Amino acid sequence: MTSLYVHIPFCVRKCAYCDFESYAGRLDRADEYILRVLDEARSRYGEYGVFSPYSVYLGGGTPSLLTPEQLRTLCGGLFAMFPPAEGAEVTLEANPGTVTPELLSEAARLGINRISLGVQAKQERLLKLLGRIHSFDQALQAVDMTREAGIHNISCDVMCCLPDQTEDELADTLESLMEAGVKHISCYSLILEEGTRLYDQVKSGKLSLPGEEAETRQLRLAAEVLRRGGFERYEISNYAQRGFESRHNMVYWERGDYLGLGCAAHSFMRGERFCNPCFDRYMKGEDGLERESVDTAASLEEEILLGTRMSRGISLEHMRTAYGAKALDALVVSGKKLTGMVVIENGRLRLTDEGFLVHNAIVVELAAAVQDAALPA
Ligand code: SF4
Repeated sequence: MTSLYVHIPFCVRKCAYCDFESYAGRLDRADEYILRVLDEARSRYGEYGVFSPYSVYLGGGTPSLLTPEQLRTLCGGLFAMFPPAEGAEVTLEANPGTVTPELLSEAARLGINRISLGVQAKQERLLKLLGRIHSFDQALQAVDMTREAGIHNISCDVMCCLPDQTEDELADTLESLMEAGVKHISCYSLILEEGTRLYDQVKSGKLSLPGEEAETRQLRLAAEVLRRGGFERYEISNYAQRGFESRHNMVYWERGDYLGLGCAAHSFMRGERFCNPCFDRYMKGEDGLERESVDTAASLEEEILLGTRMSRGISLEHMRTAYGAKALDALVVSGKKLTGMVVIENGRLRLTDEGFLVHNAIVVELAAAVQDAALPA
């Protein structure tokens, strides 16, 4: 099973926390960019042959900035080479400040069946601080508009651990989105990235981030509020009503193959990872692919890092088959020591909610134990 990701790097303006490959003021190059992506798709088609993606994700940037015609050209060209498999999940990432009924109707016609909205928060003060271009009312209107276009699988991104964000505000945001009937919520802590406006404001003391304890309280609260609303936590930061878990995300965490098209897009195909160059070089037609084969040590580490993000955890049988009985024993012995954080049952090793709070530390511990046992000295 292979998935397809397409990166659309245009935005209305740069958010205060964003260090993604995205640009304000370049939308006039969208037609040219789409042709370049289709060119790249043709060359990958030549390399990998035809495949029917299990999931497709148009991410960004702000893909909802494309016009209906541009979306049609992009999807028409792509799906002619890589027709989505029967029942595939096809997602369009959208900013509530840019969606229109025309774009959503066109999306539905093209087979897009899932919309992921970057909502982030309900409170005007926080949206302003993040540099978002929309209000919460616009987010609710976007949810309604999406349903009116016939797309019912709606996901929203929410941020927590923001400067001066209270627990009540976070709970209110999550509850309001659940009331609005969305099916999936991703709830991520703010990560302060160097080079962003928010980074400078925090470093200069104009804003302060919640401490570790407050962050832990917010993450616990998010899990509790969402569970109360009937959302299951299927990944460390992702919650969904049953049957609405994101297939595309699962491909990343399960280490399935995915082909990334567009500037700065990452791929993992047939045991190799590679990344496209950023916008200017990509537009000049540069390939810039540095292919990196994932050796046993790296693959074992990825397996633990990504597998423990999922609530269902890692399959022990898979670990035995892929890395041998010694590695499996080491994993189980090490996991059993992490009482309250790790559970081993029904042939799987998984983290508890408390374990998720210290995910990085657990990964380091498990990976060290398993590497020693799996790899020749
Ligand atoms: S809309 Fe998304 S990609 Fe664009 S600047 Fe904001 S966070 Fe970055």
